[in-house]
Amino acid sequence: MIERADVVIVGAGQGGSQAAIALRQQKFTGSIVMIGDEPVLPYERPALSKEYLAGAKPIDKLLLRPESYWKERAIDVRLGQRVVSVDASARRVTTADGLSIEYGKLVWATGGRPRRLACAGHHVAGLHYVRDLGDVDRMRQELETTSAAVIIGGGYIGLEAAAVLRDMGKQVTVLEAQQRVLARVAGEPLARFFEAEHRARGVEIRLSAEVVAIEEKDGRACGVRLASGDVVPADLVVVGIGIDAAVDPLLAAGAEGSNGVVVELHGKTSLPDVYAIGDCAVHPNVHVGGRPLRLESIQNANDQAAVVAKSIAGTLGPAERYDAVPWFWSNQYDLRLQTVGLWLDHDEIVVRGDPATRSFSVVYLRRGRVIALDCVNLTKDYVQGKALITKQCEVDRTKLARADVPLKELA
Ligand code: NAP
Repeated sequence: MIERADVVIVGAGQGGSQAAIALRQQKFTGSIVMIGDEPVLPYERPALSKEYLAGAKPIDKLLLRPESYWKERAIDVRLGQRVVSVDASARRVTTADGLSIEYGKLVWATGGRPRRLACAGHHVAGLHYVRDLGDVDRMRQELETTSAAVIIGGGYIGLEAAAVLRDMGKQVTVLEAQQRVLARVAGEPLARFFEAEHRARGVEIRLSAEVVAIEEKDGRACGVRLASGDVVPADLVVVGIGIDAAVDPLLAAGAEGSNGVVVELHGKTSLPDVYAIGDCAVHPNVHVGGRPLRLESIQNANDQAAVVAKSIAGTLGPAERYDAVPWFWSNQYDLRLQTVGLWLDHDEIVVRGDPATRSFSVVYLRRGRVIALDCVNLTKDYVQGKALITKQCEVDRTKLARADVPLKELA
């Protein structure tokens, strides 16, 4: 028997869940099936490399909604099922278990898969990725017997994991391929600040590090070998070297895209009645002149989901499209980083305040206008800076650099 639903959502992470929630908020009364490959109800993924890894929050405190919420709104959540193929002409998805579901509209919200190490020893026990709950559960089982952890990748996964493991008293080394941490996502002043903070707490950070092998002893990782010949001893290896969009079935069905499915500003892919949202969607971003971007953040997943839900429910206003100002956050030790805007294509950086006070902002400008801010322990700048980005007005650089001048006075 082939099932059918008016809307089939593939992926039960932040984007998929928010699409289902928003559809009901838009008074959509059709049937909704949401399929997720993890065996747990949708949860807050950002906590995995923070509170959940630290053991500070159990999974029931991280659920996006209680089980009753989905039931009461007739959102049929299918867990532990992976969609492996899409037939766009028959309007049907099929799971690995052979279940086929026909759709009226399909929302693809599968996020990404952690990029895998390809070096010798990449498959040994003791090597962990941080993407889903199972990954972190497996890692946590080994923490008691871990004294030295090596983290490969100095992005947010790597640095957040480093902070948690260091707070647990582990010896921690971060190996980053680039010349600084956070190279993909933030400017140099912020990167240098976080490097200094981690080092001050005893984390060893090795930059321009080329990993050539995971050394193994008795079938377990015991160290990481670098091109320099050094071997960094490790009881546990954590890998956070980015993600690849999980879009193979959609691409195989003929959707345009490669590392991500191409969507327009309402989330529509090149396939009829198929939308994509979140980490796996490449959208034309209005904040960088319509350049195609794939953003990996909660904000992006939620705001794209809201637009797609309105489009499906028929409640989208004539001028509505995905144009939200991006934001993002990271917690490391007692530092709260809040980012707003996109730093891409900046031609100037102004540091506002003194990083030594551990409360400052890095402001990115393009042609004299503020396009993004990284605010460390400075929520006021984050809030007021958003208005500067939206208004796109030219700012006085001298005042901008003075932390005692509120950003709202520059708008
Ligand atoms: P990421 O931000 O792409 O950072 C990975 C870093 O590892 C890059 O600088 C990368 O350099 C480097 N790298 C790649 N291969 C390497 C190798 N073989 N050895 C050493 N370094 C290597 O990715 P991520 O930290 O893994 O994060 C994955 C996703 O989780 C992202 O979407 C991120 O935004 C999300 N996340 C979010 C939060 C939050 O909400 N606060 C927290 C954690 C993670 P190249 O650029 O040269 O590849």
